Amino acid sequence: MEYKVIAIDGPAGAGKSTIAKLVAERINYTYIDSGAMYRALTLKILDSNIDLGDTDAIVEISEKVDIDFENKSIYLDGEAVDKQIREERINKNVSTVAAIPEVRKNIVALQRKISYGKNVIMDGRDVGTVIFPNAFLKFFITASLEERARRRYLEILSTGKTADLQDIKSQIEQRDYVDTHRADSPLIQADDAILIDTLGQSIEEGVQELMKYIRLHGGFVDAL
Ligand code: C5P
Repeated sequence: MEYKVIAIDGPAGAGKSTIAKLVAERINYTYIDSGAMYRALTLKILDSNIDLGDTDAIVEISEKVDIDFENKSIYLDGEAVDKQIREERINKNVSTVAAIPEVRKNIVALQRKISYGKNVIMDGRDVGTVIFPNAFLKFFITASLEERARRRYLEILSTGKTADLQDIKSQIEQRDYVDTHRADSPLIQADDAILIDTLGQSIEEGVQELMKYIRLHGGFVDAL
C-alpha cells in the first residue's frame, strides 16, 4: 500500500495545527506536529542549562534526544511534555535552536522516521519544501500578523490569564523573522502548495477548504 503525506506549512499562529488536527480525524490520517519536536528539543536544552550559543552541545543533544508521539501526546525521554513545550521560554528560544543546520538534519530524520508506514498530515515550516518534497498535497496556511496576534491574545484571555497584544505581536513577528531568514530550510511557500488565507475564516471553514482539495485529489482512506 502506498502511504500519503499531506504537508501544511505557514507562519506562527495561522491556525495550521488546529485545522490539521481536525482534518486528520476526519480522514483518518495520523497528525504530526513537527514544531512540537523542535519545542521538545528546546525544552531539553533549557532544562539541561546549556547555553543557547553553545552550538556543539545543542547538536549533540539533538543527535541523542528521544522524542515520540503517543495517544496525541508528545514524549521527551519517556515523559509527556505537552504543557511544558508551550511555555513562554520555549516560544522565545525555539527558533534559535531550529535555525542550526545540524539540528535540522537530525530532527528531519526523526520526522521522516516517525511518519514511516502511515498516512500522515504534518504541519510546520519546511514540511512541503524539505521533509516531504513529494507530499501528495501541500498547503500554505497564513493570515495577517495582526490577525494571528489577535487570535493568540484571545486564546490566552480565554484561559483566564492576562496578556499584552503588542507583546504577542512582536514575539510572533520576531519568530517569523528568524524562521523566514535562516539559511537552512527557511519558511517559504512551496511552488506547488495551495495558499489558504484564514483571515476572516472560521476554523470549520478552513477545515472545509482543505477537505475540498483532499476530496478532489482522492486522498482519503475512510468514507467521508
Ligand atoms: O509550529 P510551532 O510554532 O510550534 O513551531 C515552533 C518553532 O519550531 C517554529 O517557530 C520554527 O522555528 C520551528 N519549526 C521549524 N520547522 C518546522 C516546524 C517548526 O523550524 N517544520
